[in-house]
Amino acid sequence: MPGPDYLICLECETPTYIFEWVEGRVVEAVCAVCGNEDPAAFLSEDEYEEMAVRDEGSEGSDDDE
Ligand SMILES: [Zn+2]
Repeated sequence: MPGPDYLICLECETPTYIFEWVEGRVVEAVCAVCGNEDPAAFLSEDEYEEMAVRDEGSEGSDDDE
């Protein structure tokens, strides 16, 4: 599977296109907005969406569906 088009910086939640993707994981990434360059602090679009869905699920205790 090829890498994602972009990664999302967890520090400022901004997409970045400056990264290197090797064998299914981030090996290098740089955020032009906040200067973050820790590969562990970036997620692919898919991973980010998964995380967002989990966050919503954990907080939705009193919505009336
Ligand atoms: Zn950032």
